[in-house]
Amino acid sequence: MKKIIITIDGWSSCGKSTVAKQLAKCLGYVYIDSGAMYRAITLYFLRNHVDWTDVDHVVQALRHINLQFFYNPKSLQSEMHLNEENVEYFIRDLVVAEKVSEVATIAAVRAFAVEQQQNMGIEKGIVMDGRDIGTTVFPDAELKIFMTADILVRVERRFKEMYEKNPNITVEEVKTNLEMRDYIDSNREVSPLRKAQDAILLDNTNLSMEEQLDFALKLVAKKL
Ligand code: C5P
Repeated sequence: MKKIIITIDGWSSCGKSTVAKQLAKCLGYVYIDSGAMYRAITLYFLRNHVDWTDVDHVVQALRHINLQFFYNPKSLQSEMHLNEENVEYFIRDLVVAEKVSEVATIAAVRAFAVEQQQNMGIEKGIVMDGRDIGTTVFPDAELKIFMTADILVRVERRFKEMYEKNPNITVEEVKTNLEMRDYIDSNREVSPLRKAQDAILLDNTNLSMEEQLDFALKLVAKKL
């Protein structure tokens, strides 16, 4: 059967990865979490005290970063490896979430990530979620979805996720982080978060997981 590229962009914590994983599973496609790549780069910068306001320092540091996704049969998820270390747990931390959008504004960082993302799509049969996938990474993708959801719903979802790991986290901290990332992501110079003109809007504020999958699968069916 014909294979296509599906891009899913949108605001922080609006369920992009849930839809992307559901679609990839149903279609037998590869799912790529592009945000995990920016998070892993940020983790490397934090651990190695890279001054990311200094372009030369950034370019030098990127040479030492190797990013790979490996499927973990225990978690049934594809997990992020940074220089051969599984960093999936660490990249979800608030410490990384607080800096990742700033790091993701850097042109050299974006060029580094985008080149690898484009290579992953060469054979198609891929669902990639992020902020600039339909606009910059795969502007010719066959199906583009742009997701949104009410901010309070997004905060509640992310809070539940982060609370399991860190019971000291507050709703206010999560809300501030989401709003800050959305602001930086949509106002940066390079590849700001935008709905591609040909992307289809999916607002899942009042949709169940089954309903959103159904919506997305109908869009896929029209493209195949
Ligand atoms: O998707 P996730 O929330 O894990 O992404 C973390 C951060 O990485 C985003 O807030 C954004 O700043 C950055 N990002 C990006 N472009 C992408 C994916 C993520 O700038 N394609």
